[in-house]
This record gives sequence, C-alpha cells and structure tokens, in this order.
Amino acid sequence: MKRVVFLGNDGTFVDGPHGNDPAQIRLLAEARRGLMRLVRDGYSIVIVASHSDIAHGATPVSAMDALRARIVELFTPMGAELAGFYYCPHHPTGSVIEFAIECECSKPGAGLILRAAQELGVDPAEAWMVGDTLDDVEAGNRAGCRTILLDHGNETEWRADGNRWPSVVVGDLDRAAHVIVGAEEPVRVGYTP
Ligand SMILES: [Zn+2]
Repeated sequence: MKRVVFLGNDGTFVDGPHGNDPAQIRLLAEARRGLMRLVRDGYSIVIVASHSDIAHGATPVSAMDALRARIVELFTPMGAELAGFYYCPHHPTGSVIEFAIECECSKPGAGLILRAAQELGVDPAEAWMVGDTLDDVEAGNRAGCRTILLDHGNETEWRADGNRWPSVVVGDLDRAAHVIVGAEEPVRVGYTP
C-alpha cells in the first residue's frame, strides 16, 4: 500500500500567490527539504486543494491541468511523486452555475480526501494530512488521517473545537516531514479544548 501525505493546498510548499501563471511557482526552500525527506522515506504526495476560485469565475478549470503539470515539473528533480491531484471547484454562492453547489468535496468535509484515498488504494489511517488551515485539519481528522497544521499565518479564525485540532503543529513542511518520518518527537502545543 502506498504511503502518502495529503497536502491541503499549494501554499504549503510554494512561495505565495501566483495568479493563473504556474510558471511563476517556485518551491519554498524548507518545502524542498521536507519533500526530499518524505521521498527518502517512501512517501508520495497527494494534493487535496480547495479551488472555490473556479466557482467564482476567477480561475478556469483548464488552469488546473497547467498547475498540476508545473507541480510535477517541480517535484521530478527531487524524485518526488505527485500521486494524485484533487481539488474542489465548488462554492454555493459561486457565479459559475455548474460549480455553484453544496458539494461533498469541500473542506472541512472529508469527501475529497476519502475519494482520493479510495481511488489511490490508500488507508486514510496510515496517511497524514498536512495543511495550513483548520479546515484542512478538520477534513483530515474526519477522514481518519493523522493531521499536521502548518502554522504560517494562513489560519486566522482559530475556531478550534476537538474535531479541528491537529495531531501536531509545526511551522513549515520540513518540520512536518521530520515528524512524519519519525526523525523527532512531535511538537505538541498546549491546547485545552
Ligand atoms: Zn466540492
């Protein structure tokens, strides 16, 4: 069975907004280190991203192919495998009719992760979900994954009930990779529900 790490969005490993131009995407240095660490330990990466910008008409669906291709291009020199690329294009108040729905796949629901896990033959309980919002964390928890929050400023609301709290909180993908490969003890934060 594949060992996978689900990543909640491309902001977990690239350097900020890139609009609709995938050529602008660069890997963050710590993300590169983290990915290499995961590769050495036999992990593949599966992206499970929210792209409500599609429902809002800001991004065409066709841009996802180019985004995926760019990520593969960035991963390949490191020997990292992008084992899956899943996204939710929906939003109930979207302006693009076909995507303006209440869907099964939007986070914090587990639908996208569960679909990816089923299609890829992955046991969610053996997988990690790494994201930079508590919606990512809740989706991972609901799917039965172990979860890591990358706290680098993208989460601003901190509505953290028990279902939304991660197994581990770290600052970047390299620290997350350390935890995943067991190279160091998990960094637990003092959180009282
Ligand atoms: Zn959806």
